[in-house]
Amino acid sequence: MKVPFYVPFIDEEEVNEVISAIKSNWLSKGPKSVEFENQFSKSVESPYAVALNSCTAGLHLSQLALGIGPGDEVITTPYTFAATANTILHCGAKPIFIDIEPATLNINAKLIEQAITPRTKAIIPVHFAGFPCDMDPILEIAQQRKLVVIEDAAHAVYTKYKNRPIGSIGDITCFSFYATKNLTTGEGGMITTRNEETANRVRVMSQHGMSRNAWNRYSGRGSWYYEVEEAGFKYNMTDLQAAMGLVQLKKLERMQKLRMQHARRYTELLSGCEELILPIETPENRHAWHLYPIRLDIKRLRITRDEMVERLSQAGIGCSVHFIPVPYHPVYQKLGYDLADYPETTKVYEAIFSLPLYPGLTGEQVQYVAQSVLSIIRDERI
Ligand SMILES: *Cc1c(COP(=O)(O)O)cnc(C)c1O
Repeated sequence: MKVPFYVPFIDEEEVNEVISAIKSNWLSKGPKSVEFENQFSKSVESPYAVALNSCTAGLHLSQLALGIGPGDEVITTPYTFAATANTILHCGAKPIFIDIEPATLNINAKLIEQAITPRTKAIIPVHFAGFPCDMDPILEIAQQRKLVVIEDAAHAVYTKYKNRPIGSIGDITCFSFYATKNLTTGEGGMITTRNEETANRVRVMSQHGMSRNAWNRYSGRGSWYYEVEEAGFKYNMTDLQAAMGLVQLKKLERMQKLRMQHARRYTELLSGCEELILPIETPENRHAWHLYPIRLDIKRLRITRDEMVERLSQAGIGCSVHFIPVPYHPVYQKLGYDLADYPETTKVYEAIFSLPLYPGLTGEQVQYVAQSVLSIIRDERI
């Protein structure tokens, strides 16, 4: 049996909507993007949303819009995709990595306070795999110390923290619609915020710093006039992407049910195995199940994580590793980050890998993956 690591959940409806967007002649950011922004912001219970070409663009513009610049420090997790930290560097600021909490693999909120200096301006929590960070203590510290909170919600399109949707909590939340994410537009992103001024700033900065976007320029008054307020970026979404996003958003509930079913089935099948640590769910939060990462108790096994991933690949199963911790990358090493400062992250990284998890998996595939993992462990127990 073959089980690829990821297969997107796309059918004729996305194809037809993208074709109709092309035929409408509006190819760049226009009415479809506005509709996508409106529907997305409703779905996460946030009044403002701005559609962008990636989550990375969202993280970059969020920090610029909230005034982060050279000399500032931004607190985040080392256990994330490089984009989270790269965008801090893009602003000329310095990433301060706080080690993770092993149970959830999210930033350890208890360690934030001691890392705050007079230069600290923001906290960027990442909801790893779709499980929410513990936001209450993070918001409390941010309020006391006058910091802004920008959430990296690349994995958290459907996540809820204590009944509040991710997207309605921090100062700005950044979502990703990259090809492998829970809701995809191929490439794409969205920021949501409760602050109208912040939303406008991000919108203007996403289109060259022009005071009116292309949609307004050519509609309504039919005016050719615009002004460039600051040297902005070209970070907007296109209507082709938004057409696909609208269909994906309509399907989100169904896609999430399937993800949850498969994740719970993995947990059921793997939970008896003492050499494994499985991802957790809690009753007060809603997990988006972007990933199903499992950890090996490597002291009890004759094989390493790398060998495990290779054996599964030989059995036709695609696995991946989320993430190579940011301070491991050469660019961060050269900046002087020391791996020894993040012991929990280091321990997790040696032992973790992600199983295939997407809506289109069949029950037989889930069972085959779980049985393959268990049978390798059975053979390699010490
Ligand atoms: C995918 C991802 C991003 C980047 O998203 P893009 O839309 O590809 O820019 C940022 N942070 C995390 C945690 C991610 O997984």
